[in-house]
This record gives sequence, structure tokens and C-alpha cells, in this order.
Amino acid sequence: MSLKDLRKGKGAPLLNEEATSSPRNGWVGVLPVAELPRPEGVKEEDELYVAELEIAVMCPDCTNYARIMGIGSEFRNVTKLLNPRFACSVCSWGPTPHNSPEKWQVYYAGRLNGMMMFAVNEEHMDVMVEFLETPPNRRNTTEYPWEYRGLMGRLPRGILSGRFRNDMVSLVKRLQRTRPHGI
Ligand SMILES: [Zn+2]
Repeated sequence: MSLKDLRKGKGAPLLNEEATSSPRNGWVGVLPVAELPRPEGVKEEDELYVAELEIAVMCPDCTNYARIMGIGSEFRNVTKLLNPRFACSVCSWGPTPHNSPEKWQVYYAGRLNGMMMFAVNEEHMDVMVEFLETPPNRRNTTEYPWEYRGLMGRLPRGILSGRFRNDMVSLVKRLQRTRPHGI
């Protein structure tokens, strides 16, 4: 199953009923759900914003670039998705009833000052660079797409405006260069 097929709605379905994450080690969870929860701050009368979310992960079988896609409203350390599907860019591995991971190693991750920082996908890296390169007093939290709000809200303060901001930008740019050709 190729990444292109994944975009067309194909791919191997995730079958896990529980999901865990350890973001400090670069592991995130994806939980298949029948109904999406309301993100914090979204009132019951408001329509729920949903989008096709993509998570770049390492294939559990061959460690190459792989992707999970599904319908969701926001990224979290454990992201809840409708109909999440998996495809590896190299091999044909897919989750099975006996082997459906509860957490996934993110593809874009690196350490900064001892802390593990990660991006869920290529767009997330673009969002982070743009946000971090904007002077703190000119940033508007609504400027980046809704689905990243949960993750962006958790960035450590020292990275947002402190002395690690430039180091963080360098780290993300380094991660951007690890993007495989043709992805
Ligand atoms: Zn693979």
C-alpha cells in the first residue's frame, strides 16, 4: 500500500483499542474512535472543525518513512481519529489484529537541551518555523491551523521566546532536511 493510496482513502486500518504516548521519547499514540471528542474551548453548539490529519511515523517493521491518516479535529500526544489508516513508503507492512501498535515513533524528532522535540508532519514543521521566527509580541495564536493548537500550546516557554528559540528553529530546519525524497 503506497502513500498515494492512503490519500485516496485506502491503507491498512489501525485496530488498536487503546493508545499511549511518551512524547519525551518521541512516541505518540493514535486512537481509532467512532466519534470525535470536542477539543477544549469548543462549545457544544459550535460545529466541530474536522480535517484529514496526517502523522509521519517510522514503519514499525522497516523503520522507513510511513504515514497514518484519518479524520480528526486536533493533534494530541494521543490523537483521536475516525478511520485511521497506515501505509509505509517502502514495505507492505500494516497493522493486524495481533500486531496493532498502541504507540508510534514519530519520524521527525530531535533533542534540544535534553528535551525531545517532535513534529507530527511536514506542515507542523512549517508552522513551527513560521511561528518561532515571528517576534513574540507579533504572534497571534490563531495564525496557525486549528489542528496544531493543542501541540503548539505545549511548547516550553524557553523555546517560544527565550534563549533556545534560535536553537529550536535550527533543530526544526535540520529535521526538515531529513524529509525523504518524493515525500
Ligand atoms: Zn515499512
